[in-house]
Amino acid sequence: MKLSELDRADNYNDVWVLGEIAEGKVHRVTLELLGKAKDLAEKRISAGSKVVCLLLGHQLDGLEKELFSHHADKVIIVDDEALKFFNDSIHASVVTRLVNKYKPEIMISGATSKGRSLMPLVAVKLETGLTADCTGLEIDEDSGLLLQTRPAYGGNIIATIKCEDYRPQMSTVRQGVFKVQPEDVSGTGELISEFVLDEEKQTSLTVLSEEGLDGESRINLHDANVIVTGGRGVKNADGFKVIHDLADAVGGAVGASRATIDSGWISYSHQVGQTGLTVQPEVYIACGVSGQIQHLVGMQSSDFIIAINKDPDAPIMHLADVAIVGDLFEVIPEITKLLSN
Ligand SMILES: Cc1cc2nc3c(=O)[nH]c(=O)nc-3n(C[C@H](O)[C@H](O)[C@H](O)COP(=O)(O)OP(=O)(O)OC[C@H]3O[C@@H](n4cnc5c(N)ncnc54)[C@H](O)[C@@H]3O)c2cc1C
Repeated sequence: MKLSELDRADNYNDVWVLGEIAEGKVHRVTLELLGKAKDLAEKRISAGSKVVCLLLGHQLDGLEKELFSHHADKVIIVDDEALKFFNDSIHASVVTRLVNKYKPEIMISGATSKGRSLMPLVAVKLETGLTADCTGLEIDEDSGLLLQTRPAYGGNIIATIKCEDYRPQMSTVRQGVFKVQPEDVSGTGELISEFVLDEEKQTSLTVLSEEGLDGESRINLHDANVIVTGGRGVKNADGFKVIHDLADAVGGAVGASRATIDSGWISYSHQVGQTGLTVQPEVYIACGVSGQIQHLVGMQSSDFIIAINKDPDAPIMHLADVAIVGDLFEVIPEITKLLSN
């Protein structure tokens, strides 16, 4: 809502993370965001900011422990059968009411399919702004405002967005952008129970069941310590064999550039980059990938980057910690052989 004399900015504090549950467990992106929220709240300590996790769902008993050990100072749980399945209409009404009640200064959520559906609805109801798919969040030292960074204009510029006159400042962030901070198993905090009002349960949409996507979407690039990515340099679908062989040899997962997905060589669930996944493995091996900005935004925070490319001047070669100039069809089988022996 717009700040006015009656509803001043200093009435708003706390950094909220809109938590998410996946298959009965706290979603990894929630843990990543709690770590970031801790950083943000520390920089807003003068405003008395705390880290609060809002969790909606059904049969959530005990999940608060994991949230406290991942730096939540306070957990607000709304546990109701009406929240068993994701119904954006009910969820949005509950979140909006609680935001109006507790007045967080900042609210962040994962840019998951649920986050992407829910956050815009809540932002509209609250009449505030929302920056989607942020790749960076910081606090401006002078103004105390949230600086929300994201690629814009097809990744050609990086925009930093502020929401000066409306609260809360709202952002979504893709999984893998921030790292999960080390947990503090002794962490504890305040647990608050809230409820769903009867009128909030009145909706024209009835969700009968929820099913995960099947098949290749299970490939979990986010959990892989090593990702071996193939680009257009692999030439065709069969060319991915050398990429798979190397990934198998290092116990890693297979990533892909968009050019290879657009060519139909591999499925979208492997895509790394602006319109794919954001990943931060310990080792990222880019093979026959040129390193256009739309690809780099999805992997540049990897701990160690190895690039294999025929062109020594390809942008990825300048970003890489180790750049191997050569034909990937000669270089990769050699590396795979060495690692397999
Ligand atoms: C809005 C928008 C969103 C986008 N989102 C994404 C995204 O999420 N992810 C993404 O990846 N891209 C994305 N793109 C596309 C991006 O701009 C590039 O077109 C794409 O990343 C290029 O893929 P590539 O590096 O595989 O292919 P190329 O740019 O064609 O590079 C191929 C590389 O392979 C090397 N090579 C060729 N043969 C060999 C060989 N035998 N051995 C070794 N090296 C070899 C070449 O020297 C070259 O550097 C997006 C574009 C737009 C406009």
